[in-house]
Amino acid sequence: MATCHFTIAATGSGRPRCCCCWCLCWTAAAGKILFRNLRKRKIKVRNEDAELERRPGPLWQLWSYGKVVYNSLYFNVLTNWDTVLDSIFEPVYWLVDNLTRWFGVVFVCLVIALTTSVVLIVYLCVLPLIVRTYPVHWILWHLCYGHWNLVNIVFHYYKAITTSPGRSPQEVTDVPTVTICKKCIVPKPARTHHCSICSTCVLKMDHHCPWLNNCVGHFNHRYFFSFCLYMTMGCIYCSISAKDMFIEAYYAIESYYQTPPPHFTSEEKFFHKSLLYLWVLTSSVAVALGSLTLWHAVLITRGETSVERHINGKEKKRLKQIGKVFRNPYHHGRINNWKMLFGVEKKSQWITRALLPSSHPPHGDGLIWGCPPFRQDTMDTI
Ligand SMILES: [Zn+2]
Ligand SMILES: [Zn+2]
Repeated sequence: MATCHFTIAATGSGRPRCCCCWCLCWTAAAGKILFRNLRKRKIKVRNEDAELERRPGPLWQLWSYGKVVYNSLYFNVLTNWDTVLDSIFEPVYWLVDNLTRWFGVVFVCLVIALTTSVVLIVYLCVLPLIVRTYPVHWILWHLCYGHWNLVNIVFHYYKAITTSPGRSPQEVTDVPTVTICKKCIVPKPARTHHCSICSTCVLKMDHHCPWLNNCVGHFNHRYFFSFCLYMTMGCIYCSISAKDMFIEAYYAIESYYQTPPPHFTSEEKFFHKSLLYLWVLTSSVAVALGSLTLWHAVLITRGETSVERHINGKEKKRLKQIGKVFRNPYHHGRINNWKMLFGVEKKSQWITRALLPSSHPPHGDGLIWGCPPFRQDTMDTI
């Protein structure tokens, strides 16, 4: 091996090398780097070719773009099949809600018209007959009871349709909330539910009543129940009071078709037909509204609203399956539930607040549902 006589170079390892060896080393290293780069370049070109082969066509790109746009507009982490079905049926709900809203006005007019017609018939046909034929104490009783009942019907119906049931607060408050309304995008306090007909969240929502054209909630629940109760009582009173007159009027009308017919003046015919209308209408309403009133009385006794009855029923079944017992947190005892509804704290208030027209607010604000102050006294009633 030839020895290099010129320059001695030092490598990184500290071993002395000659200039030729150094050149050779450099050439080899450069070649190695060049080869590696060429190889990398070749792999890169091959990957790009594969990528091009994998890349979808314009239709696929358009579909992907549309999907991204759709998701950016509608994607919600809470979306599930219920929400999708709700969205599909949204036009149907919209139609039903709007029809109910408009029919509500018709129903309110109908209630006023029917009630007025019954009151007029009682004043024109029934009361004069009572005054002519009954003893004084019965006349006084009919006058007192009938007017007390009528005043309560008119007052509670007027208050039920004009009093707001209570809306969920629209601004940020310290009120504890249980969830957020997906329609209003506001926090919902306990017992609050959204009414799609009123388009708002209602405090302690019971149901939307088309006969009131209003939601039944925390602030008008008492008016609604009292109206149902007094209307049922009024209908029962009318159908019992006019029963004998109705039977006479019925046979009189039947005799119109006999040959030869007995002579009745047009006034008498109007009288007979009015009594027939009065008795049929009041008896029918007494049965229908009486059943509804009874059902609401059961719900109030249990400390539930109509909405909660459905929710609690499902929860009761679910807990039963896992061996647990459901307890309604808003049930404070049978009597206490009634006290809360009527806003009664003293015994005398049963007369002034439940039996007589009164505009006092219910117990609580409808936002926070704590234990009522009078509950400790009557825990044994639970
Ligand atoms: Zn809402
Ligand atoms: Zn409503």
